[in-house]
Amino acid sequence: MQLQLSNLCKSYPTPAEPLVVLTGITLAIASGQTVAILGPSGSGKSTLLNILGTLDAPTSGEVTYESTTEKNGVTGSGRIDPCKLSATDLASFRARHIGFVFQDHHLLPQLSALENILLPRLASGSASKSDADRALSLLDRVGLANRRTHLPAQLSGGERQRVAIARALMNQPSLLLADEPTGNLDPHTAESIMQLLLDVAGETGETLLAVTHNPALAGRFDTTLTMRDGILVT
Ligand code: ADP
Ligand code: MG
Repeated sequence: MQLQLSNLCKSYPTPAEPLVVLTGITLAIASGQTVAILGPSGSGKSTLLNILGTLDAPTSGEVTYESTTEKNGVTGSGRIDPCKLSATDLASFRARHIGFVFQDHHLLPQLSALENILLPRLASGSASKSDADRALSLLDRVGLANRRTHLPAQLSGGERQRVAIARALMNQPSLLLADEPTGNLDPHTAESIMQLLLDVAGETGETLLAVTHNPALAGRFDTTLTMRDGILVT
């Protein structure tokens, strides 16, 4: 998935004057690129990722998505402005094309590791045998084949993030967004989780954007951008 950000602005209303967070980001992100986003706390990184993930809308400016990926044997291409989609189409676009990994794993506590990975399929109906097979292979891919019946509370922090990554991959997204995915982890585990994200993005050709505070980990990405004064600078 290729992204084009054009003069992207975001401000939040407050009782006084609006709080301006993003002041005009213009940037192209090529399909398959891996991008690390750095910047101090409160600089607008999550705001940006939420907009790129279509969970929030910009105040002005736009983000468009161009996808030429093959899906189910059909090669399609098209430019999408999520602000122009109906709520239903937007939800389906997001579910089909975008995977999220958050700082807190956001796994459902009452579901096993395997069931959590299957969740994106359950959300859009029922999970088939091939969905279950795919969830199992993803569990294997993230190194947790022997943890499939574990509940989140029975997993370590790093293992929970591995499950969250597998869940994000379940619908074969073309854009993977990770907001401080290693923020709650020790340095060694953080390194292995960030490397896993880079590896899976490399294998699948997904575009990956990850927020991190660790410049050494950021150095492994194709591009490092820093949020400063509401824009991204190289
Ligand atoms: P970061 O992820 O870089 O720490 P955020 O994007 O979370 O920064 O927040 C940027 C600024 O916007 C912060 O000052 C925060 O308080 C403010 N902010 C974030 N979300 C909202 C919201 N929903 N309403 C009002 N202000 C917000
Ligand atoms: Mg944040």
